[in-house]
Amino acid sequence: MKAIIWGSCGSLPSPSTSADIREKVKGALWDARDKKFENPEAVDRYLDTLPHSARGTYRANTSCLQIEAGTREYILCDAGTGLRDFSLSLGKDPTPATYHIFISHLHWDHIQGFPFFAPAYKPGNRIVFHGFHPSIEQTIRQQMEPPCFPVPFEAMQADIVFDIQEDGTSFDIGDVHIAAIKQQHPGDSWGYSFAQNGKRIVYSSDSEHGPEAKEADYPFIKFFLDADVLVFDGQYSIEEAANEKKHWGHSDPITAVEIAARSRAKHLIVFHHEPAYSDADIEALHHEALRHCKTYNQDLSREDPADHFPKKISLAYDGLIAEM
Ligand SMILES: [Zn+2]
Ligand SMILES: [Zn+2]
Repeated sequence: MKAIIWGSCGSLPSPSTSADIREKVKGALWDARDKKFENPEAVDRYLDTLPHSARGTYRANTSCLQIEAGTREYILCDAGTGLRDFSLSLGKDPTPATYHIFISHLHWDHIQGFPFFAPAYKPGNRIVFHGFHPSIEQTIRQQMEPPCFPVPFEAMQADIVFDIQEDGTSFDIGDVHIAAIKQQHPGDSWGYSFAQNGKRIVYSSDSEHGPEAKEADYPFIKFFLDADVLVFDGQYSIEEAANEKKHWGHSDPITAVEIAARSRAKHLIVFHHEPAYSDADIEALHHEALRHCKTYNQDLSREDPADHFPKKISLAYDGLIAEM
């Protein structure tokens, strides 16, 4: 199984400006002023030595994650603007297919890519929205009504189905088993776990973890237990999450590390970045989280680094692929 990130930015798309890109190009060129490159591959090798913030960005599209599990039918989480880049990756005229979209919740950043999802306009395709909010269909339709959007939902010629379930229901797509957990977020959100052949990817965006997270029987510890990949909302700094943005429904990279460590999750991917932070700000929070990971494992009486979790901590960016 693979987790492919198509949209990692929280709240609204936040692409780099021309000035941002120019600064990055300038910084890389100046840094390389004494180097001599024999071929373009040597340039790539040099770029790989730079921090991601100096050659890329963490903030572009809003939430969309693909679960690639070798199934005939596509599996996606959320329909933020990353959904459009996913559909572009399918090529010009993809063969008719079924697309399952698991919806965490209906905030705009999680559905705003759907009006631009080309497969929805093609007859022969089937799109199944899975989720727990009774208003999924109404909300998906409403965002395409005038004056907000020029093309009505009815112009979509795919067979579009809304599979609305009660909390506690699980799903199966091919040999992938999908469980869900209700999360703390304004208007509620759900996280999803995708399991296949003993491997597991968990998608848990837009989820706040309050003081109850410290309790031994906190349900998320069980839900995340031994996950191979855990995609976790780390939008704010720990100070913001605990103070001015408390009850806004998001978490922070330090809490992400602590919950992932207690759950023995192997690869933590911090997701849903704050659009107001620069790429360098996001990397600074990441370095703080990496340092915290070591001391927190020692606090858990894990003296041997071989027993430290998570084994790997990444920052989500559009195009990141986590394989297991
Ligand atoms: Zn969101
Ligand atoms: Zn939200």
